[in-house]
Amino acid sequence: MAAAKGTAGRCPVCGAATEKRWRPFCSRRCADVDLGRWLKGSYAIPGEPLETEGAERDSIASSPPEGEEDR
Ligand SMILES: [Zn+2]
Repeated sequence: MAAAKGTAGRCPVCGAATEKRWRPFCSRRCADVDLGRWLKGSYAIPGEPLETEGAERDSIASSPPEGEEDR
């Protein structure tokens, strides 16, 4: 039963035993590293805005030459 508590205290960054003060990390350094990863992940959205732009352009490009033939 005591072992279950022990396994919970592992730093997700480096795997070392966690320090109470920096839970769930082992040190401030690892806390900073993890925070940096989160920030980078939320700032860099890989290619999503470009994809929507391309799709919109595609639908616009396929519709314009209607009025010309009508005249
Ligand atoms: Zn660590």
